[in-house]
Amino acid sequence: MIYTIGFVLLILVLMVVYAFNHRDNPRIFLYHNVSDKEVSYKTNMSSAKFERQIAMLKKLNFEFYTIEDLFDDKEIQKHNRRAFITFDDGFEDIYTNVFPILKKYNVKATVYACRSIAGKKVLSDEQMKTMQDSGLVEFGSHSTNHINMLEYSDDIVNDDIVKSKSTIESITGAPCTSFAYPYGKFTDAHVEMLEKAGYKTAVIIGKKLKSYQELESDKYRIPRIEPRGNMNIFQFIVLILFGKYKI
Ligand SMILES: [Zn+2]
Repeated sequence: MIYTIGFVLLILVLMVVYAFNHRDNPRIFLYHNVSDKEVSYKTNMSSAKFERQIAMLKKLNFEFYTIEDLFDDKEIQKHNRRAFITFDDGFEDIYTNVFPILKKYNVKATVYACRSIAGKKVLSDEQMKTMQDSGLVEFGSHSTNHINMLEYSDDIVNDDIVKSKSTIESITGAPCTSFAYPYGKFTDAHVEMLEKAGYKTAVIIGKKLKSYQELESDKYRIPRIEPRGNMNIFQFIVLILFGKYKI
């Protein structure tokens, strides 16, 4: 019995030490769908739940930035509680369900957009432009058609990396400087292509909380933590503290 209590106490102490040591690290969140039509599950979240999570981050005094600010704005690195909200895929529900919440709470976000995904409705050019012009949203690339880059030749992948950047820039009128690997799959050669094409950063899933220094030493493998549609608000707080919550 005494050993069990000792073990539990040790775990608790280690958790507190971990949370304390990582308190200044930026929280980079990965979302996908925010839709009330699909059931609450894994990568889809209801708009009410998404709003509760944003409200909770606000209550905890988090400030919100886009991925471009990560390294470009050294001032924000001096403060703790910085949140970076990101969305992969660029589904239309980002405009219909997420954008109103971003405006309501004055929250910035980064959307990694594809221009088409089989069987899914993605953001229109006009919707992207409106979001960009609001000053709240930065757009990155998630490839043109959500390709698994491991299944294509380097030439085809390189063309896509270059083309998807210029397509997004022509739609938004703003620089597209960040990339999210579709399915999280990539090689070192792809990283070099991104750098050559003018991308400054790339994001992965990762589920880790890294410091600015760690992130800056590996800008093309920036890990993100992942709130899930079936997470309650307490589990979300655990995710903020530790970067992980197994569900
Ligand atoms: Zn994706």
